[in-house]
Amino acid sequence: MAICEEGLQPMSSEKLYPVSAEWASRAYVDDAKYKAMYEASIKTPDAFWGEHGKRIDWFTPYTKVKNTSYDPHNVSIRWFEDGTTNVSYNCVDRHLAKRADQVAIIWEGDDPKDDAKITYRQLHAQVMKWANVLKSQGVKKGDRVTIYLPMIPEAAYAMLACTRVGAVHSIVFGGFSPDSLAGRIEDAATDVVITADEGLRGGRKVPLKVNVDAACDKIPGVVKSVIVVKRTGSAVAMKEGRDHYYGDLAAKVPDECAPEPMNAEDPLFILYTSGSTGKPKGVLHTTGGYLVFASMTHQYVFDYKDGDIYWCTADVGWVTGHSYIVYGPLANGATTLMFEGIPTYPSISRFWDVVDKHKVNTFYTAPTAIRSLMGAGEEPVKKTSRASLRLLGSVGEPINPEAWEWYHRVVGDQRCPIVDTWWQTETGGILITPLPGATALKPGSATRPFFGVKPEVVDAEGKPLEGATEGNLVIADSWPGQMRTVFGDHERFVQTYFSTYPGKYFTGDGCRRDADGYYWITGRVDDVINVSGHRMGTAEVESALVAHPKVSEAAVVGYPHDIKGQGIYAYVTLMTGEQPTEELRKELVAWVRKEIGPIASPDLIQFSPGLPKTRSGKIMRRILRKIAEDEFGALGDTSTLADPAVVDDLITHRQNRK
Ligand code: ATP
Ligand code: MG
Repeated sequence: MAICEEGLQPMSSEKLYPVSAEWASRAYVDDAKYKAMYEASIKTPDAFWGEHGKRIDWFTPYTKVKNTSYDPHNVSIRWFEDGTTNVSYNCVDRHLAKRADQVAIIWEGDDPKDDAKITYRQLHAQVMKWANVLKSQGVKKGDRVTIYLPMIPEAAYAMLACTRVGAVHSIVFGGFSPDSLAGRIEDAATDVVITADEGLRGGRKVPLKVNVDAACDKIPGVVKSVIVVKRTGSAVAMKEGRDHYYGDLAAKVPDECAPEPMNAEDPLFILYTSGSTGKPKGVLHTTGGYLVFASMTHQYVFDYKDGDIYWCTADVGWVTGHSYIVYGPLANGATTLMFEGIPTYPSISRFWDVVDKHKVNTFYTAPTAIRSLMGAGEEPVKKTSRASLRLLGSVGEPINPEAWEWYHRVVGDQRCPIVDTWWQTETGGILITPLPGATALKPGSATRPFFGVKPEVVDAEGKPLEGATEGNLVIADSWPGQMRTVFGDHERFVQTYFSTYPGKYFTGDGCRRDADGYYWITGRVDDVINVSGHRMGTAEVESALVAHPKVSEAAVVGYPHDIKGQGIYAYVTLMTGEQPTEELRKELVAWVRKEIGPIASPDLIQFSPGLPKTRSGKIMRRILRKIAEDEFGALGDTSTLADPAVVDDLITHRQNRK
């Protein structure tokens, strides 16, 4: 939102939540230490990361730290480049001396009766067995392996086993269709696929093996081996010579497997982005820098201390699951909770029931989950204790102040700071975030950069803007967790991230910086609307809409408008029990007008029971934009949509353009 222009007010709450004395003293970092460490990290990155790189164990210590170039003619990113290490060694073996009997993974099944605790000793045995099974299928260092599993411990075993033998995993979210799976198997050129007979989510079975079969049929000859984990035990078709049950393979291989020494810059995994803005990109991360950055952010952002129970609700098919369920926490010797189910099964209190059952201290989820739970009111939360909770986190989208306040007041009983963490698949780990002992919070702001991260706000020409301002978010220098390339398409990497503003990494996000130096993500740059010459981020108009007590979710896009250039088209989902009426439509227009200003009032409001979202819960505005523009034929890549049926409904009920 162009807040300096006349008549416009920032929709962001400027309420300040100071750090409590208790947090300032218990945390690794208070405000003074944050400032000192941040300054050191920017002024002398080699010395700073040279020191913090030692947080993981190296087989051969590095002598070089940072060797990076953002020059568009020669983009090259290398960290710790002459060091060797192994990720599974760091996440498992090195903890055995001290933590063999400590729980590494708490698994909570879809059915509340199903759970398991896996110690570091057990994890070690599983990972070695899995590594030998992979070897038995011909997997070698550098080979790619596709993992298409539900949220079961085997997902972590398989990931770590890949890293143990030096293979590069590509995880495909278990909810994706055979088409999306086939595309990703083919793009990553993998001949081994790991899956399960079926998954279980919200009491329903997900036909994973059937999907794998269908995917393989689309790309004949590509997949040589399918390893099948028994999750439900239902009978599934097994293709002779290609398909094997994990248990059968495991029975035939040795128990021990030494970790393969890997260079810091050897590929670790490929992961496709959510596809919110276009065709998903095969983001490639490498070994050393990624692990240093994932583990360091996990420790400081969540202030992880020995004995804490930490829960991130993401799926491992999403980058958050990679960095903050598996790699970051396990590298830190943490206890990480892995949840198979969904927030509403068997009841809408499920998240909080799990918190109470396992005495969770840190809880990290997405705004979309918070908003949908908000729609059902406070009672399902309030009837649980949540006394163990100490810290809350948010990731995936800007969290609107309304949802932030609810999360803080209702879920956290006003006791728990919220870390609103901004980052991307491409960044490997969190880049902009509060630290709970250091940063006074403002609802809706991701606040300040993490160590080593140099954000800048630039104008359309790439000129850095000073002080309180608004523009496009770029990062001026490299950090260890940065992606290294788009798999198989380095040119696309350079084009997408380094050509818009040569010499800077372009995030694709719009951003405002306030007078305190806090960053506020205003939405995708692609989503900026221009109404009568006023540039507006969609996030703040949406934020105004969801601040209305009857609105549960909102998505705003622009559409061609004869007079204004672009008009504002708002898709609105109402709270459970609310009825869409003409009167409410008018009320909402008036509401936004009052909250932000006349320029931001929606021209068209469509009440929609559902919005098109990616599997990680992000609203796909590019599809909504096409619908608003009447271009139904050109919806683009919809392979990452959670529920394609939503789109048909939106088209049927679209509002007529003016
Ligand atoms: P694609 O790049 O294919 O369009 P995507 O950007 O949705 O997909 P991700 O890497 O999963 O894929 O998402 C990163 C994006 O999510 C960020 O660029 C930003 O727009 C948004 N985001 C993540 N966390 C936050 C946050 N805390 N506040 C605001 N926005 C966030
Ligand atoms: Mg993106």
